[in-house]
Amino acid sequence: MITKNRDLNILNMLEEEIYNLIKKCSTDLPEDVENALIIASKQEEENSPSKWVLDGILENIKISREQETPLCQDTGTLLFFLDLPDGTPVIAIENAIKNAVVKATKDGFLRQNTIESVSGESIASNISVGAPYINLEFSDRKDVCIRLMLKGGGCENVSTQYSLPNAELSAGRDLDGVRKCILDAAYKAQGMGCSPSIFGVNIGGDRGSGYVNSKKQLLRSLNDMSQNHEISDLEKQTLKEVNMLNIGPMGLSGKTTLLGLKIGDSSRLPASYFVTISMMCWACRRAEILIETKECS
Ligand code: SF4
Repeated sequence: MITKNRDLNILNMLEEEIYNLIKKCSTDLPEDVENALIIASKQEEENSPSKWVLDGILENIKISREQETPLCQDTGTLLFFLDLPDGTPVIAIENAIKNAVVKATKDGFLRQNTIESVSGESIASNISVGAPYINLEFSDRKDVCIRLMLKGGGCENVSTQYSLPNAELSAGRDLDGVRKCILDAAYKAQGMGCSPSIFGVNIGGDRGSGYVNSKKQLLRSLNDMSQNHEISDLEKQTLKEVNMLNIGPMGLSGKTTLLGLKIGDSSRLPASYFVTISMMCWACRRAEILIETKECS
């Protein structure tokens, strides 16, 4: 158990683990995403723009991994999702995260990517109000799970939210309505936000929690299928339909607009039915660490 009387060694260990997590997340793409890009490349015609784009991305991934350099110049918004045992001293963990972010920024694994919204001034440490974002959940688990996502700005700009019913789309408050929203979002994005993309979708919630839960879907492996059969059918079917739109990588036409579609749901009020779509670019940077609590005792 991490105790309030932890010593300096424990905090240093935690900081180092989180620093390594940031470094890996920034420089190395998850295997499932890279495999999906390889499959996408094989499906495109030789010498087509979509094939050039995909092969360029694959080369980029290889170089970043070998040279331990960021996968993209935009190292993204830092989103930490923590699953913690009840009673964990969170301030110590939050401090370890912030120290690790400062060091990873100094070492060039993160760009100085945070600015004051009103003044436009750069914040060199990447530490400010709401930066990094840290989401906490407590349960009776025994270990500490820290998941990190680096969320690009370009794909965030085309993320969107619908309130159903939507007359323009003839979308009602049902799964077919959800399907219409996803198709509409993909069509309107036209590859913007550096496709091929991955969509994380949340059905329900309020506007704020809808975006948080849709981002949590982006933490799922591309191979993970929803346990809810209706939703897993929707994921498979809509993924196929989006890829039939021929928007393609970076909107240059082609067979793969979406690498994956992950849908979750959360409860809602009778008055509301939100469909929230968080788009993730090809640089789907996510990584996690599990820390046995006995390491921290
Ligand atoms: S959207 Fe993604 S790939 Fe495009 S510039 Fe931003 S982080 Fe990089």
